[in-house]
Amino acid sequence: MGGWERNIRRVVPYTPGEQPQDPGIIKLNTNENPYPPSPTFMHAVREWDGKGLRLYPDPSAGVLVDAIAAYHGLQPGQVFVGVGSDDVLAMSFLTFFNSSKPILFPDITYSFYDVWAELFRIPYERLKLAEDLSIVPSDYLRENGGIIFPNPNAPTGIVMGSDAIESILEHNRDVVVIVDEAYVDFGASSVLPLIEKYENLLVVRTFSKSRSLAGLRIGYAMGSAVLIKYLNDVKFSFNSYTMDQPTVCLGAKAMEDEEYFQQTLRKIIDTREWAKKELCALGFQCTDSRANFIFAKHRSCPGERLYDVLRRAGIYVRHFDQDRIRDHLRISVGTQEEMGILVRFLKDHLSSI
Ligand code: PMP
Repeated sequence: MGGWERNIRRVVPYTPGEQPQDPGIIKLNTNENPYPPSPTFMHAVREWDGKGLRLYPDPSAGVLVDAIAAYHGLQPGQVFVGVGSDDVLAMSFLTFFNSSKPILFPDITYSFYDVWAELFRIPYERLKLAEDLSIVPSDYLRENGGIIFPNPNAPTGIVMGSDAIESILEHNRDVVVIVDEAYVDFGASSVLPLIEKYENLLVVRTFSKSRSLAGLRIGYAMGSAVLIKYLNDVKFSFNSYTMDQPTVCLGAKAMEDEEYFQQTLRKIIDTREWAKKELCALGFQCTDSRANFIFAKHRSCPGERLYDVLRRAGIYVRHFDQDRIRDHLRISVGTQEEMGILVRFLKDHLSSI
């Protein structure tokens, strides 16, 4: 090892789900929305005029921030935007988690949390989920340097009720509590109203799932103006121009077309419930997922084996080689037709897997 290598910041990076390029693949592995972005958004894409690209983008991403704030009935100063919620969350870890006490998050959750904690050298403790894979709210009342969890949790899809989240907030007024609501639109209730009561609560959302825009990369956080100011101070100490011009303008359009948005959510929720019932009939146990994915375990067939067989059949799902969930598959909810193909395949092949 060269001497210079001793000073390297070494990290084990997060592994994102595969993005196969073959259009024939039924892609149920990264929780993308199977439906296209809204008609208003698509129209704006076609009308987009690139002449203004000679200029730097608006560093405050004002048009986008205003659209998000108006949609949620907030002041623009209560909204922060980033390049996907991964960017928003990374900035939030850097800004808010600076204690020598450990931050707390569940042991089975979004696997980027420990990567950021390691990257920024933030001490952390992963708190064990209950036997039924739900988060145990009372575990989060101990002393800590900050708290983060998704609601619904990933990859289980299980929801924590707003009362339980409020009890966590009540007991944690001295640290920042981040609720990652990446999947909230698919049937969970949001704690957004609580930002008026708890100035240390940050609610994080994304355009990647419910708004069908994983490819555009927009995430946002909402909280008290003081919390958002701290976040912006760190962001502007890092890179002023994370949000490019087309993303800012087109992203603002994605907050329109409420009817299309609601219709798409309804279709995904209906398909999720249909697919869950079919999978149960085939010997799977599913968590009560309120996200755009199903978390399922077969009564006899090992998870990795199922994952491999499906993959060879051109159906990509996600498998996590982790204690307690090794036999589960996380199956993103595709179109009704795609889920029908998955169910048909399992009906035909499960007995021989
Ligand atoms: N939070 C959770 C819980 C997620 O599952 C994901 C998706 N991988 C994200 C945040 C990040 O999503 P994005 O960066 O696309 O907004």
